[in-house]
Amino acid sequence: MDFPPFRPPSEAFSYLIRVVRGCNWNKCLFCSMYKTIKFEQRQKEEILRDIDEIPKYFPRSRSAFLGDSNPLIHKDIVEIVRYLKNKRPEVERITAYARIKTIANMPEEKLENLKSAGLTRLHMGLESGDDEVLSLVQKGINAEDAIKAGKKAGKYFELTYYVITGLGGSERSERHAVNTAKVINEAKPTFVRVRNLTITNPVMENLIKPLKAEEQLEELRKLIEGIKVETYFTTDHVSNYLFTEQGAFFTGVHGRIPEEKDEMLQLIDDTLETIKALKKSGVRIFTSNDLFRLGLITL
Ligand code: SF4
Repeated sequence: MDFPPFRPPSEAFSYLIRVVRGCNWNKCLFCSMYKTIKFEQRQKEEILRDIDEIPKYFPRSRSAFLGDSNPLIHKDIVEIVRYLKNKRPEVERITAYARIKTIANMPEEKLENLKSAGLTRLHMGLESGDDEVLSLVQKGINAEDAIKAGKKAGKYFELTYYVITGLGGSERSERHAVNTAKVINEAKPTFVRVRNLTITNPVMENLIKPLKAEEQLEELRKLIEGIKVETYFTTDHVSNYLFTEQGAFFTGVHGRIPEEKDEMLQLIDDTLETIKALKKSGVRIFTSNDLFRLGLITL
């Protein structure tokens, strides 16, 4: 059995099936996930054998996740999903990471076949809706691709778009937030999940100025403010947290837009006030970047 090395937090209890190894793009400057793995499509027979052996390795689950970064490019992906669905009928949700470029270029017929085989949700890395930021970090997509992919795939699947606050640094914070919200408004993903940029690649340090705690919150605020479509918005990752030496005092915002938008904005405003008060009394504030540099968290 071969397991994908990464999975979204929401797939913690899913069967994990490795369909490809690594990332077929592997050029994004902020990403260190698959840099040491040579990209390859696994043999179909090996994958089907792994599916047969699921009960040996996982407690019974109603969801399955396909890795690594872009399994939909596997030449036998429809057959693999169908086999999984037939073999494990208890599975109600089958999800996969997917590259926006791959989905934007994929014939709709293939998306339709994947849906009827049993695929239900895609996790896609938008990161930014701003073309300048996307090009700066070598994401290999533009805003138009992201809108096209969202409109197409949204007809067949639930979609998660991942966004990285801080990706444009403090220099491009405004345009990054505003243009990302614009793409979300067009692409209409079911979920928006935010990670704050934690610089693990020194190249990024020369490209952008990491956000300070207040800037991180202001960018997050602008992003939420700009989203006008129905979606579930969450910052469900430690990189979004803010800390003092005593521990985390901001653990993110979560809620449905538009229903819980005001509540989320209020929490951000309250946290900005808290930061002011803490700083006034000489308390040091740490972002995930600070903690990573100090070796106190790993990502
Ligand atoms: S962010 Fe996604 S597409 Fe970019 S290198 Fe990492 S895994 Fe590949």
